[in-house]
Amino acid sequence: MNNIAILCSGGDVSGMNPAIKHFVEYSLQKGLTPYFIYDGYEGLIDGSIKKASYQDVAGIITRGGTIIGSARSQRFKDASYRKQAKDNLDKYNIDKLVILGGDGSFKGMDIFYKEHATAFCGIPSTIDNDINKTNYCLGVDTALNVIKNAIDSIRDTASSFKRAFVIETMGRECGYLALASYLTSGAEMCLIPEIPYNLQAFEQSFIGQIQNGRRYFIAIVAEGVKQDSQEIAKWFEETIGIESRVSILGHIQRGGNPSVYDRLMAYKFITYAIDGLLQNKQESVVCFNESGFNYESIEEVVKPYKLDEKLLSCLMENQNVQA
Ligand code: ADP
Repeated sequence: MNNIAILCSGGDVSGMNPAIKHFVEYSLQKGLTPYFIYDGYEGLIDGSIKKASYQDVAGIITRGGTIIGSARSQRFKDASYRKQAKDNLDKYNIDKLVILGGDGSFKGMDIFYKEHATAFCGIPSTIDNDINKTNYCLGVDTALNVIKNAIDSIRDTASSFKRAFVIETMGRECGYLALASYLTSGAEMCLIPEIPYNLQAFEQSFIGQIQNGRRYFIAIVAEGVKQDSQEIAKWFEETIGIESRVSILGHIQRGGNPSVYDRLMAYKFITYAIDGLLQNKQESVVCFNESGFNYESIEEVVKPYKLDEKLLSCLMENQNVQA
């Protein structure tokens, strides 16, 4: 069969639309007929499937989000709904799937594959960057640029008003966004779930810096850190003696015009995914690491993710703060 479909599952990221555009174009180049499945596994169960054309993807490369929608689906955890999903694929003679999602989505597809043997290739797509075996997930660069712009803007007001700003980034239990933002924005503090911290260790240094004329502090806090951002702001006010504000960046990190890097990565991820399916790879995820792109098994990809040791040690060395 020559029919191939794409769906987005779980949290959307900026970069999905460039991926969808290249999916359609590359499938057609390779003599495949591309299909869209709308709203993730929900649409697969409900048969929201449509043949895709060049016209559908014209002009979408600049848009964040996904034109085919994404969703979480409780029903997909139920075998009878997965059977219904398989029947829908059979109706359209689709036997190859490209899945843009996180490890939860891949786990779901793994179960589906074991029951119904529909070949699939996953593309790691989550701004959390928390998928094992890949250093990069689609959408991360755009999210980092959104955070960078936010921090740069906040710095302007923080320095004008002599304030400490506690900026909270997304990432669930993973501190990658916070850590990469810290290393690239010149912030004074970074708290992430992977490293235990003690606010006392910053006290002497920060008070000394104010005495030496420092006007503001930028602290980046990952959402998975146990202590609430408000509590850290209170610590700045009460212990360091500087007025403080909290800025929770929230869902703006997921959206926006896809960066050049994400557009390029979308292009490459899709090319690898379709090539893999054409080479008869049945069940894999395209990963990107030091050795470039490769195909990893679901078993490996769903193992717990560990943050890059080198980045972690940079943080630990930098935060060995001195007055
Ligand atoms: P992400 O893919 O971003 O990690 P989730 O963990 O929310 O997001 O998973 C996305 C979807 O994948 C779920 O809503 C569900 O439909 C499907 N899924 C996850 N785990 C399973 C599972 N064990 N069995 C079947 N489907 C699953």
